[in-house]
Amino acid sequence: MPLNIAMDGPVGAGKSSIAAEVARRLGILHLDTGAMYRAIGLTALRRGVDVADEAAAVALSKELDISVAHEPDGQHTFVNGEDVTGLIRTPEVSMAASSISKYLGVRQGMVALQQKLAAQTPMLVDGRDICLRVLPNATVKLYLTASAEERARRRWLEMQQKGASDTYEQVLEDLKKRDDQDMNREVDPLRPTEDAVIVDSTEMNFEQVVEYILAIVKEKTA
Ligand code: C5P
Repeated sequence: MPLNIAMDGPVGAGKSSIAAEVARRLGILHLDTGAMYRAIGLTALRRGVDVADEAAAVALSKELDISVAHEPDGQHTFVNGEDVTGLIRTPEVSMAASSISKYLGVRQGMVALQQKLAAQTPMLVDGRDICLRVLPNATVKLYLTASAEERARRRWLEMQQKGASDTYEQVLEDLKKRDDQDMNREVDPLRPTEDAVIVDSTEMNFEQVVEYILAIVKEKTA
């Protein structure tokens, strides 16, 4: 079995950027599973599919061909061959992704695809159900978190740099709403598994988190 590292955590914990850097330093691929749910959420919005309609959302997810490619600039995510990487980071797509990811029928397809990818090559996989469902036998399991206020502050700064006009309060409210939806759904809600190492980055900077995780990986793979 190739080296698998599982990383879960709430909105804005820095999973994607931390995971990308840790994977780069270990010389392994990084799979961003949130991007796959986002690709389905984007398509639901584009086609006017009601995300509250479970049957419609599941039917849509089964019809779509979701795939990823690892390029020098990171993961690219595709829907039926179209590269949607640049279109899936809006607040609307975030909420649509969270809404469709509640459904078992949507999750089953995504989990199977993610397991297939992780079986092929050493990989760091980040998401919400990776330690529990996607890679229950992962060599290293991590739960990356920080206080809601700190996560919102980081996300708000990032959005400001991109020219977005959202206020800090709006960002905090959206973040709490999506966390609430992800942590309280019936199917595989987000929570740390008992065997995961909890990494609370509230008082840590980017480099400290990366170094800390690399030390955990070294210890677990020694
Ligand atoms: O990680 P990211 O914020 O991009 O994920 C978008 C949404 O996709 C999450 O809010 C969550 O609802 C869903 N998701 C999930 N399981 C995963 C990854 C993401 O349910 N493994």
